[in-house]
Amino acid sequence: MPDNKKETYPKRKKANTDMRKIPKKEGWETKNKDDRKDTPAKKVSRCPYSKKCGACQMIDMPYNKQLKKKHARVQELLEPFTRVEAFVGMDEPEHYRCKVHAVFTHDKKGNPLSGIYREGTHEVVPVDGCLLEDEKADAIIASIRGMLKSFKIKTYDEDNGYGLLRHVLIRIGKNTGEIMVVLVTVSPIFPSKNNFVKALLKEHPEITTIVMNVNDKQTSMILGDKEKPMYGPGFIYDECCGMRFKISPKSFYQVNPVQTEILYNSALDMAELSGDEVALDCYSGVGTIGIIAARRVKEVISVELNKDAVKDAILNAKINEIKNITFYQNDATAFMQQMADSGDKVDIVFMDPPRSGSTPEFIDSVSRLSPEKVIYISCSPDSLARDLALFAKKDYEVKRAVPVDMFPFTRGIETCCLLTNRKPDTYVHLT
Ligand code: SAH
Repeated sequence: MPDNKKETYPKRKKANTDMRKIPKKEGWETKNKDDRKDTPAKKVSRCPYSKKCGACQMIDMPYNKQLKKKHARVQELLEPFTRVEAFVGMDEPEHYRCKVHAVFTHDKKGNPLSGIYREGTHEVVPVDGCLLEDEKADAIIASIRGMLKSFKIKTYDEDNGYGLLRHVLIRIGKNTGEIMVVLVTVSPIFPSKNNFVKALLKEHPEITTIVMNVNDKQTSMILGDKEKPMYGPGFIYDECCGMRFKISPKSFYQVNPVQTEILYNSALDMAELSGDEVALDCYSGVGTIGIIAARRVKEVISVELNKDAVKDAILNAKINEIKNITFYQNDATAFMQQMADSGDKVDIVFMDPPRSGSTPEFIDSVSRLSPEKVIYISCSPDSLARDLALFAKKDYEVKRAVPVDMFPFTRGIETCCLLTNRKPDTYVHLT
């Protein structure tokens, strides 16, 4: 799924900063002693935070079973259109998230705590590690938490507005090894800044850049507008399918790099490109799919609503010396309608909309542009099924559906579909 949600946090409630006792047990262990057989065995979750956090609905399910369940769900929804192929799972499904966020607060005695918001609340659950998150990122967060006292840096208190540090965001370029640490503060004045940076780099020399992001607003956004590099260039690069992409603190980038490559490669395999195509990349984000496809087609036209993402996309094309791609900042539906109205024709459409899916007008415009193939990448099988039904009315049939597990341990289902135009040949061949 494109994890394209803005960095936000839920509505405010009184913070609970109690340090909870973390159970030491791991795995499918039972709390019950053998001599208490009459009490039904109670399973202890693999993750001590799972109940409060709520992010991983499948945390205690064996991985194969998770994939089976998700497959059944997507098959049920896509039943009218096609047989869904095998789920592409991960060999090592833990610690896949290369973007990690921790909220900082303190307990009643002023001891710094870091963790996550309890599902749907503003309550902070102190967390030391997460089965989904990159372990290096979690270690850096723990180090920062450990350094705060000696540097006399107070964590921000939402109730009275005192303190400095609000959040830490870590982004890891899995394929380049580059690491960005974003310290979100309420003020631009960071005491002993240079010494703090030095001490953090001493503990984690693998960090390639540290950025201060100032967020002095009472909004639900994690990141504020002002940004200042404290060390390094203020961004990182990562590589995907042999291309290089710039990741700034606010850039959208898929969170599971291993599966992203698989997803994009399966989209390109399905496309069976000949090199002569005019391709559209709709809902293009920072340009990833279009840039990766560009060397295999004649021309790519990309459309994306978010201005910053389009800026990043233009830069990404430059970094990769891709010249046959044009980026448009526009609503995808409006853009497609304009293209269809002007009588343009395209050969293939890649579309990767947000969870809500696309629109009937977008799909109508696609049919008027009459591409031979549509590659639909979806992070929500519900909106995908709805949209496939609209495509079916426009004579596009689903030839393949490949689900790729981008979010192990969660309910998230990402699917890549190939649709082809089944319109009969409109030319009358006279013999
Ligand atoms: N294809 C990209 C991004 C997919 S996320 C990738 O794989 O990285 C979905 C994207 O759709 C986001 O970048 C979001 O900003 C964009 N988007 C959302 N609504 C849109 C709209 N109405 N028109 C165009 N783009 C839109």
